[in-house]
Amino acid sequence: MYDFIVAGAGIAGATVARSLAEKGKKVLVVEKRDHIGGNCYDEKDERGILIHKYGPHIFHTSDEKVYEFLSRFTEWYMFGHEVVAKVNDKLIPVPFNLNTLHMVYDKEKADRLEKKLIEKFGEGARVPILKLREQEDEDMAEIADYVYKNVFLYYTMKQWGQKPEDINPEVTGRVPVVISRDNRYFGDKYQGMPLNGYTPMFEKMLDHENIDVETGKDIKDVVKFENGDISFEGEKFEGGLIYTGPIDDLFNLKYDRLPYRTLDFDFEYMNAESFQGRSVVNYTVDEDFTRITEFKYLTGQKDVKGTTIVREYSKGYSGASGEIPYYAIINDENLAQYEKYVSESKKIKNLYLLGRLAEYKYYNIDAITAKALELADKIGQ
Ligand code: FAD
Ligand code: UDP
Repeated sequence: MYDFIVAGAGIAGATVARSLAEKGKKVLVVEKRDHIGGNCYDEKDERGILIHKYGPHIFHTSDEKVYEFLSRFTEWYMFGHEVVAKVNDKLIPVPFNLNTLHMVYDKEKADRLEKKLIEKFGEGARVPILKLREQEDEDMAEIADYVYKNVFLYYTMKQWGQKPEDINPEVTGRVPVVISRDNRYFGDKYQGMPLNGYTPMFEKMLDHENIDVETGKDIKDVVKFENGDISFEGEKFEGGLIYTGPIDDLFNLKYDRLPYRTLDFDFEYMNAESFQGRSVVNYTVDEDFTRITEFKYLTGQKDVKGTTIVREYSKGYSGASGEIPYYAIINDENLAQYEKYVSESKKIKNLYLLGRLAEYKYYNIDAITAKALELADKIGQ
């Protein structure tokens, strides 16, 4: 009856399901949680404040195709997302940029350093901290040292349990030193929020006559693998299965658990107009949590009394019930383990791996949307 079964209703699953449905395919989406949206899911809390249940999600992209696709399901509240780091008693813009430089050094020194940075890297350049640390020039080394110690070291230890130089360089490379006066966190052309939230956007994406959605159901309860074939509810399934959950879980940890980081979210409502007066503050030199998000500044919600914040605490994922694997820990050893699972998946006919967990990658929303559209084009002919 179905041409495709999609496991997971996050952005990967919703995008591929919609795209396949528009190509005339019948699609069943099976989602383990009791709601759609995956980690992008948002909802109003008991005070009516729109919160992101799985941490702050800011949509950003320079990919026109992704922007066009998602814009069919939502209007946008666009803004330039800005973040500050709390460094002792100062709030400084992150990524560290020329404005930050002028906040931490006196004018004469900052002017001199600014000139040097522009000469060396060019205006607008985005320089990973680990690259800046390789510079031999004394002034550069001083800036690198400041940024490393005050922005990266402690935050990265909290987030990953490892030093910046010991994790995959692409991770810290996401937040480079920026040689400009632009305080925005991302460099992308489009950045903001679905105007009415993510969940209504997902509802629209999945609202199609060729799509059925079942929440509160684990794919492993309805789909089995037998001799390289897929069976669905006890019968051989000739269609394709697109799996967007953790790959180790799909194969019952056959090659052991893949390492992930998980997060604890501590939500707090306050009967006050504002807590921090801005959306995100990163705690880069103290506290046990990594950052505090104040939702109304992220979503632009106006019609509310009080304010809700969330503190994020990172820790190793243990697989305990209720824990969610949020971040793949990408290094050679873990990728080798991941590859064993990929080989296992290749033994199953018509099984496709898609998404941040199934692909064990650090994808943003836009990258996974693009990947899902590509996959649908490939398999939906
Ligand atoms: P998910 O959203 O994880 O969806 C996978 C779905 O599969 C889940 O709903 C899960 O319940 C379901 N599933 C798993 N196993 C099974 C099973 N056995 N049976 C059925 N269903 C199953 N990206 C940005 O672009 N901007 C941001 O600001 C941003 N902030 C982030 C903040 C945090 C704290 C985190 C963790 C991520 C952030 N991201 C952000 C990344 C973003 O969350 C991901 O790119 C995106 O959610 C990945 O979508 P996905 O569909 O691959 O995975
Ligand atoms: N990072 C940091 N200090 C900051 C911001 C980021 O050390 O103030 C490092 C940290 O290692 C983090 C990585 O850069 O995990 C990527 O940051 P990003 O904001 O992209 O993380 P995410 O929002 O995906 O958790």
